[in-house]
Amino acid sequence: MTVASILSTKGNNVITEKSGSSLNDICKTLAQYKIGAIVIADEAGHIEGIISERDIVKVIGADGPSALERKVADVMTKSVVTCKAEDSINAVMSKMNAGRFRHVPVVQDDKVVGVISIGDVVKFKIAQVEMEAEQMRSYITMA
Ligand code: AMP
Repeated sequence: MTVASILSTKGNNVITEKSGSSLNDICKTLAQYKIGAIVIADEAGHIEGIISERDIVKVIGADGPSALERKVADVMTKSVVTCKAEDSINAVMSKMNAGRFRHVPVVQDDKVVGVISIGDVVKFKIAQVEMEAEQMRSYITMA
């Protein structure tokens, strides 16, 4: 199964912000869309970084609430691990595991076209296990 199968149910709607946004703006967007991370992209959709709630908690812990006035460009992770729609879900899980992060942007033609979260992966895996169990149950009842 590929990333494309998750995107087909979840859709390609990507919430992005500009690198000049303040952390305050980022918090508002995270709350508005009930998400845990935002891709920072330029006008053309090229990824410049990613910021998650963890990054924000870390700077507030270090500098206090005044950190919310800082620009996202100073705080975001600039080296972003991405995937492609044709990658397997297991490959994305491995990337999340190896990098200890819960979000992976999907890139096509150098532009962000989706984001896969650990929640999406877990949901997909549970559905897969339930389907396999159901198939096994029908097989046993038929036998
Ligand atoms: P998360 O688990 O997604 O909340 O992110 C934990 C840390 O990893 C934060 O510092 C994020 O900025 C960073 N991060 C999140 N996603 C990625 C990614 N795809 N590539 C690189 N770093 C990431």
